[in-house]
Amino acid sequence: MSERKIQKILVANRGEIAIRVMRTAREMGIKTVAIFSDADASSPHVKYADEAVNVGPAPSSKSYLNMDKIIDVCLELNVDAIHPGYGFLSENATFAKKVAAKGIIFIGPSPEAIEVMGDKLAAKNAVAEYNVPMVPGVNHAVSDLKEAKEIADEIGYPVLIKASAGGGGKGMRVVEKAEEIEEQMERAMSEAASAFGDKSVFIEKFITSPRHIEIQILGDMHGNLVYLFERECSIQRRHQKVIEEAPSAILTPEKRKAMGEAAIGVAKSCGYYGAGTVEFIVDENLDFFFLEMNTRLQVEHPVTEEITGKDLVKEQIYVAEGKPLSFKQEDLKIIGHAMEVRVYAENPKENFLPETGQLTTYKVPQGPGVRVDDGFEEGMEIPIYYDPMIAKLITYGDNREQARMRMLRAIDEYEITGLSTTLDFCAFALKHEAFISGHFDTKFVQTHFKPEMLESHNAEEEQVAIALAAYLLEEKKKASNISGNGNLSKWKLRAKQ
Ligand code: ADP
Ligand code: ADP
Ligand code: MG
Repeated sequence: MSERKIQKILVANRGEIAIRVMRTAREMGIKTVAIFSDADASSPHVKYADEAVNVGPAPSSKSYLNMDKIIDVCLELNVDAIHPGYGFLSENATFAKKVAAKGIIFIGPSPEAIEVMGDKLAAKNAVAEYNVPMVPGVNHAVSDLKEAKEIADEIGYPVLIKASAGGGGKGMRVVEKAEEIEEQMERAMSEAASAFGDKSVFIEKFITSPRHIEIQILGDMHGNLVYLFERECSIQRRHQKVIEEAPSAILTPEKRKAMGEAAIGVAKSCGYYGAGTVEFIVDENLDFFFLEMNTRLQVEHPVTEEITGKDLVKEQIYVAEGKPLSFKQEDLKIIGHAMEVRVYAENPKENFLPETGQLTTYKVPQGPGVRVDDGFEEGMEIPIYYDPMIAKLITYGDNREQARMRMLRAIDEYEITGLSTTLDFCAFALKHEAFISGHFDTKFVQTHFKPEMLESHNAEEEQVAIALAAYLLEEKKKASNISGNGNLSKWKLRAKQ
């Protein structure tokens, strides 16, 4: 494999991840090109880049997913590599092929690896020979209702019907009992066909108290593969992550090694190079099972960067240039603990319904151990066209408790008005006994969270604020030369709004 130095990268994405990638490029002396839609003309990622090009109207199908337009921009501006970020075209094998056909480097794995791992059934079959534990179930598409019933009976209820082409937490149905299987199968197949253009579904055991723990891997084109330990991603809503941490509070060094080696097996099964994530589901006995592989940089990659000290984007770029990885497995060590909360424009009181609106106030936390990866500024609108994530807030500490307390402090400092966010929910979760003790699973929200909990929390704050205000007024009256106004903390004032 010959090496080829990258001089200019186009980031085929928007928001925080576009800026994240460009930051590393700048550190490496590489020029950057942003693309943007009509909805994003004044976005920070556009301002950050050395050059920026409008690629079309707001709907992503007409802009961020417009493969030919994006490739044309690369050719016009002498771009030699494309970084796809996550979402959009990042796991699109056709795009990776088109890019390569024009002599442009795709910063990611081979199109073949994307293709195999993008299909959950193909992935299960590929890893079958690599000694990777699998969730009990079948690894072929099921469409016959009678067969579905037989399979489910054999696996034992509850079972999970999954769309082979599913992703983003979509295309899954839990079936509790035999009477429901036929109806649920029919629904699952028609949903899969309309959402993913592929009606293939399969059936696996539904693990009732699962944790989602994933392994970050990196590979190069010289056959080197390493794992950068795990990320715990069990706090989810709608099968999608909202709080992540590294390392997991429950893994032993032996289990960590076993999962790391299984992840390497998955990577080998598709000749993987670049950054990738192997997702596992872990049951109450700490037995782990392969879920899927995501063939891209992941949203929650910063927690891994914090505990390993490695820049994953830099390694992605090196690998794409044909260089070997800059470190070996034995060079990697976990130091400290990191947490990430995803700040979504969503209303936790309304079942996490996405919200649009304006960031009338937007002030980010700072200080020791705090990292904010965001893509918005005060006054900006959150467009309806894209994912409602505003920012990722990451904290780092010597140990889990320090990272957790820092996160609570940082959430306190974060000021967002104009729309609801997941911040209040995240503070609630981080203060919950189940989270503190490490005894939680992917059903944390269903088990422990009720919207009233945020309301009552706020009501309590409001009571405190009212009492405090009354007290201060009284004090002010007593000594009219002293102003008590500044004593109402921001947090209390916010609770009053
Ligand atoms: P991660 O596993 O890195 O947290 P997510 O599952 O949250 O990633 O997905 C990252 C982004 O990609 C989100 O914007 C999500 O909506 C999008 N995404 C992932 N898979 C798909 C898919 N198959 N179809 C559409 N969007 C997807
Ligand atoms: P996606 O492509 O949508 O990310 P995954 O297969 O990674 O799909 O599953 C997403 C989430 O759904 C997991 O993080 C986990 O919470 C839940 N899940 C998936 N498979 C199972 C299973 N067999 N039993 C219980 N929960 C599961
Ligand atoms: Mg997944």
